Amino acid sequence: MIYQNTLAFATRLDEQDPLKDFQSKFLIPQHNGKDVIYLCGNSLGLQPANARAEVDKILNGWQERAIEGFFTGDEPWLDFHKRLTRTLSVMLGAEKEEVTIMNSLTVNLHLLMVSFYKPAGKRYKIMIEGGAFPSDQYAVASQVRFHGYDPKDAIIELFPRVGEFNLRTEDILKKINENRDELALVLFSGVNYYTGQLFDMPAITKAAHEADAIAGFDLAHAAGNVPVQLHDWGVDFATWCSYKYINSGPGGISGAFVHKKHFDNTELSRFEGWWGFREDKRFLMPSVFEGEKGAAAWQLSTSPAILLALHKASLDIFEEAGGLAPLRAKSELLTGYLEFLINGINEKHGDELFKIISPKNKSDRGCQLSIVCKQNGKATFDKLTENGVIGDWREPNVIRLSPAPLYNSFKQVFDTGLILAASI
Ligand SMILES: *Cc1c(COP(=O)(O)O)cnc(C)c1O
Repeated sequence: MIYQNTLAFATRLDEQDPLKDFQSKFLIPQHNGKDVIYLCGNSLGLQPANARAEVDKILNGWQERAIEGFFTGDEPWLDFHKRLTRTLSVMLGAEKEEVTIMNSLTVNLHLLMVSFYKPAGKRYKIMIEGGAFPSDQYAVASQVRFHGYDPKDAIIELFPRVGEFNLRTEDILKKINENRDELALVLFSGVNYYTGQLFDMPAITKAAHEADAIAGFDLAHAAGNVPVQLHDWGVDFATWCSYKYINSGPGGISGAFVHKKHFDNTELSRFEGWWGFREDKRFLMPSVFEGEKGAAAWQLSTSPAILLALHKASLDIFEEAGGLAPLRAKSELLTGYLEFLINGINEKHGDELFKIISPKNKSDRGCQLSIVCKQNGKATFDKLTENGVIGDWREPNVIRLSPAPLYNSFKQVFDTGLILAASI
């Protein structure tokens, strides 16, 4: 695509956009009586317009049928979570039984590490990306301590080369290989929250397996953003949150992936609860646990129907959009357009005033661009906010902007470019 820095060009791309009608399926916050330009879906996606109606269905069922709501009505709560896994499993390239919807992300990270971080003898180390999202760092360090190890020794963090912002795949693979005798688990994010780097998940998984280690991924910034093939890549486990690119509301319900190859492993340890018990016999309440088939055996507690209703409102939109392929196609164009406009500002000033630290190659990133401001970063960010552009600010000088293909347009990206240019 040869981009142009003109309103006519942006408008033309919007007209040709097969997803152009999807913006109307979201509720967009207002600023001075106008829709904001919301570029913060990497933190909290927008509310689907039908979210309230879906929640109302649950409230009405509870009001009218109370306990019977688990078993009757259009959407019985008993297996509500199972009915939602289809769209998700397609989105994540998983088989239906490999995906389950439950808890929140950090909780699931812990539950999955209970099963898949099994340190023994010399093999007790976890490799993670340096500067991982803090919750992941805390989860990993506390798991390591729980098993009696010292995080300083047992956690291997990988950082980019000096002067670089992104990890090179070759360096990740080399490090895995170098530590092949001591690695128990390689736990990476799919997309790094700070730089927006999309990691080469299949290559990392393969290298982890060659080192006889488990490969797990935190897909918080990847789910609903970039295509993923968890099953075919042979990923052992993964988890994600639904409130970023999946738009299922603040603290929305998370999910977990467990690869089929682990279903019949009786040596796997797992924390269990009644919601993971096979559904057909759950209410006989036998004293010995007999798990549901697949990832659903990791369920613990009664599913939160209201969170599932919010999740459904959003997943229905993904379904209607035709899954991730059309979203990804637009996303690459949209983020590429923002990159083009920002680079244009730099060129005009003959200086990297806005240095994009996200990968340059579109296949190595998702929606997000992370921008290091050479000067007046906070003032630039405030200028965006005052003009109704919602991004996110990271001290001391980084602005993250994430055009989302479901609800952002090329015109909005064009307008953002104008405001950034005017902020200098
Ligand atoms: C957003 C995010 C989280 C947040 O975890 P919660 O348990 O949902 O609060 C954790 N890890 C990563 C990588 C994230 O991007």
